[in-house]
Amino acid sequence: MADITKEQLITSAPKKKEREPVPKLTGKIKTPKIVTGAASHYKCHVAKPEVQEKLGFPGELVDNWQEAAIRRMGELLEKYKSLQVYMDICVRCGACTDKCQFFLGTKDPKNMPVARAELFRKVYRRYFTREGKIFGKVAGAVDFDLELLAEWYTYFHQCSQCRRCSLYCPYGIDTAEISMAAREIMDSIGLGQKYVNEIIGKVYEIGNNLGMSGPALQNAIEFVEEEIEEDTGIPVKLPMDVEDAEVLLVTPSADFFASPHIESLVGYAKVFHQAGISWTLSSTASEAGNFGMFIGNYNAMQKIASRIKDAIYELRPKRLIVGECGHAWRVAYQFWNTLIGPFDTLNPKYPRPQHICEFTNDLIDKGALEIDKSANDEFVVTFHDSCNVARATRMGDKPGGQFDIPRELIKKVVNKYVDMPAETIREKTFCCGSGGGLLTDEIVDLRAKGAMPRMQALHSVMETHGVNFMALICAICKAQFTKIMPMYGVPMETAGGIHQLVGRALVLGAKE
Ligand code: SF4
Ligand code: SF4
Ligand code: SF4
Repeated sequence: MADITKEQLITSAPKKKEREPVPKLTGKIKTPKIVTGAASHYKCHVAKPEVQEKLGFPGELVDNWQEAAIRRMGELLEKYKSLQVYMDICVRCGACTDKCQFFLGTKDPKNMPVARAELFRKVYRRYFTREGKIFGKVAGAVDFDLELLAEWYTYFHQCSQCRRCSLYCPYGIDTAEISMAAREIMDSIGLGQKYVNEIIGKVYEIGNNLGMSGPALQNAIEFVEEEIEEDTGIPVKLPMDVEDAEVLLVTPSADFFASPHIESLVGYAKVFHQAGISWTLSSTASEAGNFGMFIGNYNAMQKIASRIKDAIYELRPKRLIVGECGHAWRVAYQFWNTLIGPFDTLNPKYPRPQHICEFTNDLIDKGALEIDKSANDEFVVTFHDSCNVARATRMGDKPGGQFDIPRELIKKVVNKYVDMPAETIREKTFCCGSGGGLLTDEIVDLRAKGAMPRMQALHSVMETHGVNFMALICAICKAQFTKIMPMYGVPMETAGGIHQLVGRALVLGAKE
């Protein structure tokens, strides 16, 4: 990267008139020949001062940014021992190099996980190791200057924090954690990413990622109720802010508004209605997502999650269920107990949050729901394991439940199901290409390339088995695939939620 000024660093990349061509669909995922700098032009917009300040970060890049960044790096190395270990133990074996969808899709060697981490590691060596301080470049240590900071900004925003690389690293080095730490450092010196930080600001102010106020939520819910009644003749309700219900459902706000997300909301509502279980949504906890994780910021995560704790105290539900959202389930599963627990007011039989797939699957097993699979006979279905669910959580009480339960549930509501190739599913799944805060328009060409491995795997089963529906359990995956699929010549309706399928197959009114 040529010499760069502070102004250039914070200036957005020029808007392109035409989209870049996407890779051809062949059904095969090949390791590409490297093309140096191939992804260097994908740059997320930098957050404006007012966005940064709302979150308690400096409005713009501070004058003493280098000193401040190194100080913050030192604090993080002290606080997160894993980060310190990841800095020291990489043996450059290369096992991770071809495992990242952003390298496979863009061919840029800086998108190899080991190279991404090296951007952080060379600063670490320079300021935190004796060899680096004495021998400098010879010891792989580099001064933290503006050029390197610009590379940090570019390439740490080309990582969806999906953890695929860590699965293949013999030492378990988690580049997702390194990228979270890098983003936290950049925020602390006033260099935040617009999309993620604007959304966190909306949650602080209004309560959800989409910035939907209470009345807007109410309207959306009434619309869904009317649609279900028009479609089925049955008045299925979507209760809001009801006290002492059995279940509080916390779901991504996209479920209230976006398509195909809203079809899953219809599915959840039909499940509760038909099982006769009292439930409620909350206008306070109207967002399951937690973008604080994407910037590695514990305070932001806690502040966002606190709305759920408030709703639990206000509404006194017995159970807490989380809707279809990949990173939200990771935050719920891994962090809620520390952030907002303990959940001592919940029914001791269900002391932790449960995933909606686990809940619905159990109800079908218990015979509480009447299912007509033939309602989905127009579909040949496959399932995309959301990487946050696959590699950072579990579901149910058996190992591997996060892989098995969604598949069991799908097979209970459809007749035709087929998995994508084994090296692209379950713990080896590829990210959709937009997780970790990358779901933003200015990098849509990068997102399309990051989606390449999943699109190839999907294409292979479309060709061999006539698959025409890819079931998802992540709000970001749904938004990403409906945007990206048409770029690959695949109809956007090929992507939808598992509860979209459940809602179609559920026979309303057939049970007492
Ligand atoms: S965490 Fe995922 S996106 Fe990030 S470097 Fe590893 S494989 Fe790539
Ligand atoms: S697989 Fe692990 S040890 Fe090997 S190069 Fe990648 S991060 Fe380093
Ligand atoms: S959007 Fe979906 S696939 Fe992508 S990182 Fe999030 S959970 Fe994973």
